[in-house]
Amino acid sequence: MLWGAKHIVVPRPISNGMYLKSIELIGFKSFGRKTALQFGSRVVAIVGPNGSGKSNVAEGFRFVLGEQSMKSMRSRRGEDLIWGGSPTLPRGNRAGVKVVFDNSTHLLDLDFTEVTIERVVHRDGENEYLLNGTVVRLKDVIRLLAGAHIGGSGYQIISQGEADRILNASPKERREMVEDALGLKLFQHKKIESERKLEETAINIDKTKSLRREIAPHLKFLGAQVEKIEKARAMRVELSHTLTEYLSREHAWIRAEEARVSGDAEHTRSRVRELEEKLKTIHAHTGVSQKEAPGRVRELEEKLARARSERELVARELGRAEGAAEAHSRERVVPTSLVREFTDTLQDELTKALDLSDASSLRESVGRLHIRVRSFVEKIFGALHTSSHTGEAERLSHALEKAQKEEVSCVKDVDEARREALSLREAEFTREQEATRIESEIRTCRAFEAQAGNARSELSLVRQRFEEEVREGVALVGAGIRDYEKAETPKGALSEDRREQEKRRRDIERLKIKIEESGIGNSDAVTQEYTQTMGRDQFLGKEVADLEASAAKLKDIIADLEETMDKKFTEGLGSINEALTLFFTKLFGGGSAKMHVETPKRVRRVSLSESEEDEYEASEEDELYAGLSITVHLPRKKVRGLEVLSGGERALTSIALIFAISQVHPPPFLILDETDAALDEANSRRFADMIKELSKKSQLVVITHNRATMAASGELYGVTMGSDGVSTLLSVKLEEAERIAK
Ligand code: ATP
Repeated sequence: MLWGAKHIVVPRPISNGMYLKSIELIGFKSFGRKTALQFGSRVVAIVGPNGSGKSNVAEGFRFVLGEQSMKSMRSRRGEDLIWGGSPTLPRGNRAGVKVVFDNSTHLLDLDFTEVTIERVVHRDGENEYLLNGTVVRLKDVIRLLAGAHIGGSGYQIISQGEADRILNASPKERREMVEDALGLKLFQHKKIESERKLEETAINIDKTKSLRREIAPHLKFLGAQVEKIEKARAMRVELSHTLTEYLSREHAWIRAEEARVSGDAEHTRSRVRELEEKLKTIHAHTGVSQKEAPGRVRELEEKLARARSERELVARELGRAEGAAEAHSRERVVPTSLVREFTDTLQDELTKALDLSDASSLRESVGRLHIRVRSFVEKIFGALHTSSHTGEAERLSHALEKAQKEEVSCVKDVDEARREALSLREAEFTREQEATRIESEIRTCRAFEAQAGNARSELSLVRQRFEEEVREGVALVGAGIRDYEKAETPKGALSEDRREQEKRRRDIERLKIKIEESGIGNSDAVTQEYTQTMGRDQFLGKEVADLEASAAKLKDIIADLEETMDKKFTEGLGSINEALTLFFTKLFGGGSAKMHVETPKRVRRVSLSESEEDEYEASEEDELYAGLSITVHLPRKKVRGLEVLSGGERALTSIALIFAISQVHPPPFLILDETDAALDEANSRRFADMIKELSKKSQLVVITHNRATMAASGELYGVTMGSDGVSTLLSVKLEEAERIAK
């Protein structure tokens, strides 16, 4: 017996165009126990007595498809959706609904042939969404359903007593329903998303531009700094060149000068040594033989004088002897001439002797006087002794000859000694001259040495300055400046005018001042910062360009979407109106109904956008919106507004409208909760016909008390509620259904 079954799970083959496979309610509202409903027909009717839990099934659909309005599920909070408990079955902690879709036609954009969507609410109000068992976000579910034209405006699930909701709705809400039904929600989602992205892009463009503006002055400043650095760097290169040239020239020159000065000094010193040696030698010889020479000449002259006077004496004696011999031979008298001569000689010798002062000279003089006296006596006596006179003359003649020879020899000696003395004097003179010349040269050398000393100290100052310049150079342009040591001597470094170097030094000083004036400190850091900032600016520039390009793309997308939506909406609305007229005339047996696009009004737009917490959040803004109004012409009645329609007329108009929309753009399924409640029998039949018609395109789940509707269904489920307050679902036959429904 069917009543015993808790629930029926009979797998049936799913016919073409059926998307709903099953729904499972676990602790959801009155379904305290796990209850499943398999959809085996295109039209499934759910029947049962009042309060048994039928509407809870419809709300189960709402719930699992992501409904956020508690009110539409007749609850105040999530907790109200959880099985509240009864004396026999304790309350639950969670309510869950699971719906299984046949996705073999890829109704839902997932690569599965079957898709399970599950939603669970916990007592603390926390919701969970699962797609094929994987936890996802609400927006994922909404997006997935929107792709299958299962929207949130709820026209696919018509709750009990809400059949005329589409009539009661504002033109704006009505339009939303139609848009939803026409599958424009997906485009709207895309549009909203694109608009949100566009807004974000605009904000990012602003942010990026403002970042660029922020760094622009700094970049400009750094640019100017870098320009200065480049100039300073160029100047430093120039300085390096000039300095290298200057230093290598200076180095070569100083080295050459030092070598020259020290070579000169050495040369001068050895020259002085040599000269002094020469001078010493000259001085050693000076006056040595010279001193003896005059004495020797005098000596020889005296000897000559003596020899001469001896010869004269001998000659005179010889004369006298010869005279005496002659006279003796004639008269034997003493000639007066002899006496006079003797006296004269005596007189002379005495006069001379008187002038003599030294003893030896006097002795000599006395010696000579003695010789004269003896000679005179001998002459006198010789003259007296004739016999001896001739022999005497001969002897004297020999003596004379000897004395003459002696005189000649003495003259020769004197001449020779004189010549020798002369030559000695001449040699002495030459030496003196040489010594003078040498002394003068030594003086010159000394002066030169003094000069060289000055030059050396000047040169050492130049070297000091040079070394200082090298140190400075290293500090300014780096150790590379020391390369001058290895470099070849520059051309003309030793021969050029020193003023050229002075000019270079001035140039270097000028450059140094310029570099110093440029005031560039840590140039590497500045350059690095410039490169980084420049890179950042370029990056931001590219970012702006990219963002602008994507903004333009987004605008295009939005424009395309708007165009598509506009077209689809206009076309869709036309088709709906056609179908509406058909259904309307069918239900009312005439008349007409039509939806119109109102003139655009400025309305508050409440749009859902994704918040940071990945949830939807409402934002309000003004926009121009053209809602949809309805005009109805009942047959035989002059009806102006919807307000004057009877309850049944309202229900019929709503049904015509809902069916028209569903006909034009068939939803995968429709859930109608006692939509036929207000219909009389005739209209109930028409309604049942229309259900059949509609089920060709959409799967239908109808909750009803109407037999005609039940009869139009391919499958019936009865919902009952036992004394434990738990709703139970079971498959029933039409007869049973009728019975249960009562
Ligand atoms: P009708 O034909 O009168 O419209 P129905 O079959 O549609 O009735 P529902 O409105 O679906 O009935 O069910 C209402 C029942 O569900 C009530 O009895 C209510 O007490 C019960 N119900 C609702 N929420 C819960 C809950 N959280 N726990 C237990 N029971 C609940």
